[in-house]
Amino acid sequence: MTKRRLVALLLACLLALPSFAHARKEVQYAADFEYMRYFAPNVVGWLFQPDTTIDSPVMLAREGYFYLRNGFDGRYSARGSVYMLGDEMPDLSAPLVVLHGKNDMNNRLFGSLSEYREAEYYRRHPSLFLISPEGNYQLDIFAGVKTRHKDHDSWMTTDLAAVLENSFIAPDPALLPEEGDAWAILTTEDAKQEGSRFVIYARKRPMPPSDAPVVWLNHQGLDASKSVSGYATAEGVGTWMVYGQNDPLWDRMIFEVAGSSRKRPFGDGGCGPTSIAMAIANLVPAEKLPLLNDYATQPLGYVFCPCGIDDRWCDVGHVPYQLKTPEDFLRYFPLAVGSFAMGNNTFGVQGRRDSYGTNMSYLESICSVYGISVRSARSLEEALPYLRRKDTMAVCCVTGTYTPFTRTSHFMVLAQVTDEHIYVLDPLRRDTYGEQDPRGIVEIITPGLVRVRLEDAHLCHFTSINLLTY
Ligand SMILES: [Zn+2]
Repeated sequence: MTKRRLVALLLACLLALPSFAHARKEVQYAADFEYMRYFAPNVVGWLFQPDTTIDSPVMLAREGYFYLRNGFDGRYSARGSVYMLGDEMPDLSAPLVVLHGKNDMNNRLFGSLSEYREAEYYRRHPSLFLISPEGNYQLDIFAGVKTRHKDHDSWMTTDLAAVLENSFIAPDPALLPEEGDAWAILTTEDAKQEGSRFVIYARKRPMPPSDAPVVWLNHQGLDASKSVSGYATAEGVGTWMVYGQNDPLWDRMIFEVAGSSRKRPFGDGGCGPTSIAMAIANLVPAEKLPLLNDYATQPLGYVFCPCGIDDRWCDVGHVPYQLKTPEDFLRYFPLAVGSFAMGNNTFGVQGRRDSYGTNMSYLESICSVYGISVRSARSLEEALPYLRRKDTMAVCCVTGTYTPFTRTSHFMVLAQVTDEHIYVLDPLRRDTYGEQDPRGIVEIITPGLVRVRLEDAHLCHFTSINLLTY
């Protein structure tokens, strides 16, 4: 390297230095407040701290304690919600912002603030993020004070010397507020005014707009969760979107109509909607999947939470996940179909009832949304020529004692037929078909994508074959 190039390189490094301060954060946080206001009109912002339980809408409360027992939507919630006190929408850019939350025994939300007595916890969690429609703020913690819950006022101060004198946190000098810095105070509340109040003091600085990828806080819990569904390929034959009803992303979500006496999870009962979702997602371009939103009767379309396909089953206080973009639909499509099957559709059909299994009467309705024609084949032989085409797949049922796929009743997708094999998308992903398949006729290409030799296909007992053509 020439001396000149070396100098140029050093100069380039030096010029790049200022950006290192921001390089730590590769994402920017956002929340869909327009959507939130639909069910939480007095939402003010969102408080988020990575790798902790603090991840909550911030609510405006006209009087204390309501949000110690209720979530952002006013429904009972054991963990409550973070709130600010006031009569009108607060200005989060103000020199002092005070945030309240329940002193939760289970460490949820502000219950975690007592952890700051440990130096290591402070070292790992020095900052929080306060997100609002008007702008975002980074809250850098520099002090923590323990007082009594009955103490309502003495802690509400921005006297730096007094706060530091009583602090159980040894502050990182780089995080101390300077002249002109705004403050945020986070304080725990207890409805009975018993025990200790933990008060955390933070420097509040606006975060400049950034080009970093956006993480939507109202989506990130589920979006960050691992999914085993995805594209799978049979070499030389085809590539398909393969969803698993037992995908850990949703297998424990309750799949029941409102008022059901049971709480069956999607992992057990979701083979019908998962099969239909696989057929449609493989026939229709992803950008068209959101069409389904136009046919929902619920005003927010298709919403769910980690508790259930229908967010009415939520007993934790999750902000419901709303499907909007083609990416949302592609990732969670079986849940949209499940919601449709539970009666969330303008057709008035209900496939899911408070009884065994899923009635497939909604299949034609949902297919008509996408311009997919449906016709039934009386036998596998009749269906085979259609399944050699790329524009047709079949949703079918397997029932009985002899099929290798189930001992009861199960829906699946016939994806493609070649000269030798029939390719099947099985919504119940398995590593082995074990004792159910003593002759070993099912060959697993990857869990969820299997094939059966054509001469063995009659042993599978495919029935109720519906041919879907796009
Ligand atoms: Zn929930």
